[in-house]
Amino acid sequence: MTVRIDEAKVFEIIEAKHPKVVLVNAPGGLLRQTKELMEKVKSKYGVKGILSGDSCFGICDTVDDDVEKLQADLAFHIGHNAAVTEVGDYTYLIDAVDDVEFREVVDTAVETLAQFKRIGLATFSQHLHELKPVREQLEGKGFQVVVGRGNSLMLEGQVFGCDFSTPFPIRDQVDAFAFLGESEFHAVGLALATGKPTFMLDPYMNEVTDMKAAAEERRKRSILAVYKALDARVFGVVTGLKEGQKMLGRSRWISKRLEMNGRKVVELAMRDVTPERLAPHREIEAFVQTACPRISVDGFTFDRPVLSIPQADALVALMEGREPGEFLERSKWIELTVGLIKK
Ligand code: SF4
Repeated sequence: MTVRIDEAKVFEIIEAKHPKVVLVNAPGGLLRQTKELMEKVKSKYGVKGILSGDSCFGICDTVDDDVEKLQADLAFHIGHNAAVTEVGDYTYLIDAVDDVEFREVVDTAVETLAQFKRIGLATFSQHLHELKPVREQLEGKGFQVVVGRGNSLMLEGQVFGCDFSTPFPIRDQVDAFAFLGESEFHAVGLALATGKPTFMLDPYMNEVTDMKAAAEERRKRSILAVYKALDARVFGVVTGLKEGQKMLGRSRWISKRLEMNGRKVVELAMRDVTPERLAPHREIEAFVQTACPRISVDGFTFDRPVLSIPQADALVALMEGREPGEFLERSKWIELTVGLIKK
């Protein structure tokens, strides 16, 4: 497997904009390639690179606000390909593509998928170019294949860990989803958000995994956390400070509803929501965080309930005597603000 960053795009931008200093951020898995690229940029153009050392988990982690603080001229955000290519005043999104092929694992998957007729396809940034050949291969085996349309942020068939807005609208047109890539994180999210049988096709190990058990485990823990929070009298409502996930309006709405239902609210803001950051607030019995929903859905290490936005909606419903329903089955678990950051 080789993940290739779109160097040509980086060079093109540098030749057009003539920056002296660039700020770069990339997910942990692409740091080696990113550092190599920064070396190339330095020797080819004499441009100094600053690598952001803050966490970078998703497209929400752009660092446009930091460009001026660091007296840089522009920023490159690596590896979260999307329908938007520029963010804010300074940031360019730079694609990265994995050259692994899915032909073999699709052949392996045919036997498992044979119980279904209509298959939805979805994947994450690095494998988007494989959707077309996989579609053709599955159609050649007699399946009906549906790929969700792109939108203002997402490319066709794309999912992020919190945004399922391309597969969600086609969930009633398919019997199951095939997720391309070795990422339980994304595949579980797809299963939870669509409520459909979901199979992860791992091209490296040539393995096909039914996500049912993992999704069910997350779903049950998410529900349990909501019911535990129902007993809490004091809530911390945490607004994330990452620039692509600032949900201040949602934090205010949730705080207000909690107070209307007799709970005390302490409003907090932080960049990374971690057990260590929450630990000092001992008087708080449960938290709602409007930053990354996966902190809550996948967070195994918190000592008190830490609810995401869909869980907070379920909590408010219960407090107000309504049924919470399948609260994780929705198109988006957070409205990413990354495409809305003003120029
Ligand atoms: S908010 Fe969404 S894009 Fe950002 S890290 Fe979480 S799942 Fe990924």
